[in-house]
Amino acid sequence: MNIIVVGGGAAGMMAAIGAAESGCSVTLLERNEKLGKKIYITGKGRCNLTNDCPAEDLMKNVVRNPKFLYSSFGAWDNTDTIRLMNEEGCETKTERGGRVFPVSDHASDVIRALKRRMDRLGVDVRLDCEMTALDISDGRVCGVVVRGQEMRADHVIIACGGASYPTTGSDGRAYAILKKAGIKINEARPALVPIICSDDWIPSVQGLSLRNVKLTLLNDKRKIYDELGEMLFTDKGISGPLALSASSYYEPGYRILIDCKPGLSAEKLDERILRDFREYSNRDFSNSLVDLLPKSLIPVVIGLTDIAPDKKVHQITGEERTRLVKLIKGLEVHPVGTAGFNEAIITRGGVDVKEIDPSTMCARNVKGLSFAGEIIDVDALTGGFNLQIAWSTGYLAGTRSAWT
Ligand SMILES: Cc1cc2nc3c(=O)[nH]c(=O)nc-3n(C[C@H](O)[C@H](O)[C@H](O)COP(=O)(O)OP(=O)(O)OC[C@H]3O[C@@H](n4cnc5c(N)ncnc54)[C@H](O)[C@@H]3O)c2cc1C
Repeated sequence: MNIIVVGGGAAGMMAAIGAAESGCSVTLLERNEKLGKKIYITGKGRCNLTNDCPAEDLMKNVVRNPKFLYSSFGAWDNTDTIRLMNEEGCETKTERGGRVFPVSDHASDVIRALKRRMDRLGVDVRLDCEMTALDISDGRVCGVVVRGQEMRADHVIIACGGASYPTTGSDGRAYAILKKAGIKINEARPALVPIICSDDWIPSVQGLSLRNVKLTLLNDKRKIYDELGEMLFTDKGISGPLALSASSYYEPGYRILIDCKPGLSAEKLDERILRDFREYSNRDFSNSLVDLLPKSLIPVVIGLTDIAPDKKVHQITGEERTRLVKLIKGLEVHPVGTAGFNEAIITRGGVDVKEIDPSTMCARNVKGLSFAGEIIDVDALTGGFNLQIAWSTGYLAGTRSAWT
């Protein structure tokens, strides 16, 4: 059986491995001059290739359509990823939060391991080969078009990635090819991306990193996401782990509150402020928060409390102190959108999961076609989960395409 895999990223290489292991003759097409261009930049060049959590926890870190991935994770889980890497000479190590990296800290070793396995299985890799159309007749895919020429195949696996970091080759152009084939594509949007905010005080705290804070994303009063951790103010909004994760759940109209002192209840924080106020009772309000907040955030908080900065601390009323506590426990930033695909770690949206049989990754309505990786409308939080989705869906698509 002849299989063409389109896309030489994580999902495509794993699909090629799965199909070749199943006895198929596999051709892998990649439009770039080399394989795995995106893998090189993952994990800041170190490639957080999976997460060492219990296999049943993989789905908990998937933001959209986790249940769709049940069979994929069943076919190929994080232990399989680590085993393949180790078998092909890429030793791995586990860091904070279960993040798995190559011992060498070089993403290139991950690509080398995959290439080695593909070589051994006889996968025919063709670089600088861009699929520009699918060849479909009588509702069945019978090949792809490359440089105006038809390449025939018994089955085609689409692993062209999403639309984020388009310079790596996955620029969303494949969506149009699939739409032509009648495949439903959900709107592609940037995710795991900085959030843009309209607050005019934000540029004044640009570069400020907050540790041990809690970020809550709200739809009106309903909590959509909340997590403790680290975040960063940028010139236009917020970034850092908490903000990136929140961006995956963000919708227009949502609000964001930052609890700067999540370890203290409002009562305990009030007691703490009272203690500081007693110590600094003759100071101006603007000089009284030095032990409580980072320096650049103090003028912001003072401005938002509406208490005169030169008011003496001993003159501050209980009601004003309550306002201060509320602000520190719920500093609001006003999101107006996210940064674009150039800064997005992942794409949300893509091939609607209803188009795909999750137990085989085959298209339900077009024969001879299946999908793998980020092109599908599934995405996860950071920690190695997105690459695990690519490996798992790739392997399942590869092994099952041999059956069709
Ligand atoms: C900066 C950054 C850091 C990241 N870090 C991590 C991390 O540490 N851990 C993690 O789990 N995830 C990480 N991710 C996410 C992860 O890289 C992706 O989820 C994963 O690479 C998706 O794999 P894929 O094979 O589906 O798509 P891609 O890796 O995008 O591969 C798709 C391939 O298809 C090719 N292609 C596209 N169209 C065509 C066509 N028509 N013809 C031929 N070839 C085509 C492209 O050139 C590309 O090589 C990161 C992403 C970014 C942007």
